[in-house]
Amino acid sequence: MHESAVAMSVVEQILAEAQKHNARPKSARISCGQLNALNDEAMLVAFEAAAMGTPCEGVTLSIEHKPLRTQCKSCGQSFDYDIYSGMCPGCGGEDFSFEADAPLLLEEIELEQDGPDESDAAKKDPRQE
Ligand SMILES: [Zn+2]
Repeated sequence: MHESAVAMSVVEQILAEAQKHNARPKSARISCGQLNALNDEAMLVAFEAAAMGTPCEGVTLSIEHKPLRTQCKSCGQSFDYDIYSGMCPGCGGEDFSFEADAPLLLEEIELEQDGPDESDAAKKDPRQE
């Protein structure tokens, strides 16, 4: 399944990051686009399974769904594509060019240092925009 492959790679990345900082992972945030969208529930279950027995166990995972950016070919308006309406909000046109879908990304890992007063979060490049 898509989700379990993603979950395993996310766990691996979190573990690598935690090891690098000699810290315990606390929470992580991933994001995905619309075309490669993850099923939240399946993803959380898969993540829990992949994390079991590793320092990732108990890490809170959040999943952000990014909209698909679209530009209308008739009026040029850019908007977030809504699969349910499928129309340009500006002119009602139905001819769009889609921008690249958001990739599946591990956006952020929050780590917990074991030492006192060292609750620095390791931030991975939060946004590409
Ligand atoms: Zn339009």
